Amino acid sequence: MSVLADRLTPYEVTQADLDAVAARLVDDVATAAVAPKDSAAYDWWKVLFALYPNSRATHSKRPRERGVILTEIEALFAPDAQGYATWPCTFCGTPAAEVWTKSKLPMYDTNKALNTLPPGVAGWPICRGCRIAAWALPYGAWVTAGSATVLSCEHDAAEREFATRNVLRAKRIMQLGFGGLGAGARPEAVVLRALKSLGPDLRGAGSTLWSFKNDNQEPWLRVTRTRRAVPSFLATVAGNAEPRRGWRLLELALTRRDKSGQLVTSGSAEAARLLFEAEDGRSRSLLLQLHYLLDESGKPWSQRNRAALTRLAFIYAEEILGMNPDLKPVATVIADWIEHGSGAPRGRLAEYRNVALSDYKLGALLMQAHFRLTLDGRDVKAGPEDWRPLIQQRPRAWEQRMLLSATVLELLQERGVAVNEAPADPEDEARTELLVDLPILSGEDDEDNDLGAA
Ligand SMILES: [Zn+2]
Repeated sequence: MSVLADRLTPYEVTQADLDAVAARLVDDVATAAVAPKDSAAYDWWKVLFALYPNSRATHSKRPRERGVILTEIEALFAPDAQGYATWPCTFCGTPAAEVWTKSKLPMYDTNKALNTLPPGVAGWPICRGCRIAAWALPYGAWVTAGSATVLSCEHDAAEREFATRNVLRAKRIMQLGFGGLGAGARPEAVVLRALKSLGPDLRGAGSTLWSFKNDNQEPWLRVTRTRRAVPSFLATVAGNAEPRRGWRLLELALTRRDKSGQLVTSGSAEAARLLFEAEDGRSRSLLLQLHYLLDESGKPWSQRNRAALTRLAFIYAEEILGMNPDLKPVATVIADWIEHGSGAPRGRLAEYRNVALSDYKLGALLMQAHFRLTLDGRDVKAGPEDWRPLIQQRPRAWEQRMLLSATVLELLQERGVAVNEAPADPEDEARTELLVDLPILSGEDDEDNDLGAA
């Protein structure tokens, strides 16, 4: 599809371009259709099968001679025969003489579904451009052996960047199979890299990822979105040392390797995923992930790294969620109570950790702390009016409680109160220092980075 790389809009595409793309499609589809099951080329057949499970190219009864299948696939993308009646194309309105049924279209009904065409109608009129586009889809999509993910973004440049990377990836899958790609990559990371590389032009652009699958089983569609503020948030993070460090620490914390050191999960891809929100509400949130990291008593953060992660959480809250709470006074009440109460601070810290995200239990703990500090004749920095927004069932109260917890732990660590079970491991620290200065979303460890060098 590289012939199209310098066409900026669909209106610039010529007949010669369409011929070139059609020729490439025919060649690739025919190769996949006759590929032996144990070959790398067969992986592209799996991609096609997930999208067009009832087509001639993927059907179990397909011809196994390349010449035969080539002719059949060629016919799919041939120019309309002249002199026949035309109808407006179902997708774009261009006059079209060819009609297609669902077996040739991606993301369509399964075999189980009944015919949705009215009686006596042979199919949907589809113009040549749309017929070719329907099969060019897996090149511009982020594909797996059973699914495809496409991007829509208010800025064409981001969509183009996403598609360009995926075309490179598609070529690699056809040559080497999925085994030739690194582990752990995700489409979310490709999108965020595109948004980040396009810089300030993209401020205020939301993007949506559509992941779908159709394998004659149960087709599904999953939609996730980034908020419009994400490009600007990424620019802030990339342009400022402390939150950039926080993001890298997050990436490193989310990276998983097996015993032999092979990458299993790419941390940069997992971190990218946290900026996408699922339509059904079933997605992890960046703030919650940061909360887990900061609150993990087994993970000994140095003061500098704790500050960086906390700063990242506050920038996310401000730029993405539009909140900028001053939590220092309430956090000071809790930190004072933990530090100065009777007995070891560890017990009170554990008590606070247990209730940190609960509204009414946190309220009770704050009242208890307030009472204790007052009795002891200490200066109490905040009262019930100050913590009311955190303990009522109000929008963003939960997020505020997570930020409060980050602030409390940071204050305690600054004061030298032990918040970690174990001291920081110097070897671990040294390893982190080596990796933490890389740019965010560099994906130094996943397949998409390999593609950048291709
Ligand atoms: Zn059309």
